[in-house]
Amino acid sequence: MRLSRYFLPVLKETPSEAQIVSHRYMLRAGMIKQAQAGIYSWLPLGYKVLRNIENIVHEEQQRAGHIPMLMPTLQSADLWRESGRYDDYGQEMLRITDRHGRDMLYGPTNEELITDIFRSHVGSYKDLPLTLYHIQWKFRDEVRPRFGVMRGREFLMKDGYNFDLTKEDALHAYNRHLVSYLRTYERMGLQAIPMRADSGPIGGEDTHEFLVLAETGESEVFYDSQITELKFGDREIDYDSHEECRAVLEEFTSRYARTDETHDEAVFAQVPEERRRTARGIEVGQIFYFGTKYSEPMGATVVDKDGNRVPVHMGSHGIGVSRLLGAIIEASHDEKGIIWPEGVTPFHCGIVNLKQGDTEADAACDAIYASLTALGLEPLYDDTNERAGGKFATMDLIGLPWRITVGPRGLKNGVVELTSRRTGESEELSPEAAIERIAQIYGKVSKG
Ligand code: ATP
Ligand code: MG
Repeated sequence: MRLSRYFLPVLKETPSEAQIVSHRYMLRAGMIKQAQAGIYSWLPLGYKVLRNIENIVHEEQQRAGHIPMLMPTLQSADLWRESGRYDDYGQEMLRITDRHGRDMLYGPTNEELITDIFRSHVGSYKDLPLTLYHIQWKFRDEVRPRFGVMRGREFLMKDGYNFDLTKEDALHAYNRHLVSYLRTYERMGLQAIPMRADSGPIGGEDTHEFLVLAETGESEVFYDSQITELKFGDREIDYDSHEECRAVLEEFTSRYARTDETHDEAVFAQVPEERRRTARGIEVGQIFYFGTKYSEPMGATVVDKDGNRVPVHMGSHGIGVSRLLGAIIEASHDEKGIIWPEGVTPFHCGIVNLKQGDTEADAACDAIYASLTALGLEPLYDDTNERAGGKFATMDLIGLPWRITVGPRGLKNGVVELTSRRTGESEELSPEAAIERIAQIYGKVSKG
C-alpha cells in the first residue's frame, strides 16, 4: 500500500478522553473512531489488525478440530426465557421490540441459540463429540464502557460451544480449548496466563480466565511467578489425545494463579514468598465447563449406546477478539507508539523514502516495494512529501515492526537502512539483503 493512496487519519494531539495508552494510540494511529460510547468504527488500519487477530483465532480453532459457523446478532427473547436467563441477565442485555411487538435482544453470548440448533439437528451419541464456534459481534450495555475497545458495548468475540456425551469427554473439550488458546495468544506475541476464575452469570463448575499482565488491567490477580516462565512454544500436540491435552492443562494450571474472585490467602501463603506476585491483568478469554445447565432445561439430548435419552454435557469458550488489540498494545509499546508483534502487524514492513521526487530514491523504493509484494508481503510505502522526521514519527506511532529507509546518500554507497521498531537498532544493507531479511523474518522464500 502506498501511503498517498491509503486512509490513515493519524492525530498529532493526544485525545483527552483516552485514559490508557492503548486507547490513546489506537485513536492517534487512526485505527478506530468512536461512534457512540463503547461503539467504534474500525478504520482501515485497525480493521486490518482485527482481521489478522481473527485469522489466527480461526486457524487455531480449526487446528483443534472446532467447526466455524455464523449465528445472527439478534436473537429471540423466547429462547432466553427457556433457559431462564431472559430475566436473570439484567441491564447489560439490550432488549429490542420489532414491529410485531416481538421481544428480541442483541446477543451478549450464544448458549441458547447454539443449544437450539443442536437440539434441532443432533439426536444420537454417534454425532458426538461436536464443537461449533463463531466470531460475531456481541452487545453488552456495560455501565461504564471505557478504555476504548477494551471495554466496549459492541465488541467482537469468538465463542465456541462443545457438546459431549459424558462429563469426561466434555472435560477433554475444556482441556483442548485451553491448549488451543495458549497457542492462539502466543502467536499474537502475548503471554496470557490461565487463572482460576468465578463462573458469573454463565454458571458452571470449571472455569479459567486467560489474563495478560498489564498495569491497566481491570482484574486484580495473584500468582506464583514461576508460571510466567512457562511457554507452549511450537510443540506438536494431538488434540484428540485426552492424556496430552490433560498434561498441558496440568502443567499450566498447577501453580497458583487466580483472579480476586477466587483468590484464597491461605493457599497463596503456601507459595514461597519470593515468588508471590500481586498484579493486574486484562481478561482476553475464558473457558467454561457447565455440564447440563442448558441442555437439560432446553431439551438438548441424544440417545446413548443403551437407547436412553440423556442431556449432553456442554461448555462454552470465549476469546475477546476486539479487546485483544488493546491488550497487545498495552503489552507492546513505547513512548513513540505501538510495537506490533510480527504475527498481527497490519503491514509487514514500512518503506520510508527520505527524498520523494529524487529519481534514484523513488526507483529504489518502487523496486523494494515490488519485490516485497512479489514475496506475498504487504509493505506500507510512505511516498508522501512529508519531511523525514514526520515520516519516522508516523511509522513509529503505527508500530510496524520493520522499516526500510531509503535515501540518496545511502544509495550512492549501494545501501538502505533496516530498522527494528522494537530495539531501534539499524543496519545498513544492500536493498536485496534487506528484502532477504524481511522475507526470512516472515518465513517467505526469497529468490533474490
Ligand atoms: P468481563 O469480566 O471483562 O466483563 P466477561 O467475563 O463478562 O468479561 P465473557 O463472557 O467471559 O466476558 O466473554 C469472553 C471474552 O470476551 C472475555 O474474556 C473478554 O476478553 C471479552 N469481553 C467481554 N466483555 C467485553 C467488553 N465489554 N468489551 C470487549 N471485550 C469483552
Ligand atoms: Mg469472562
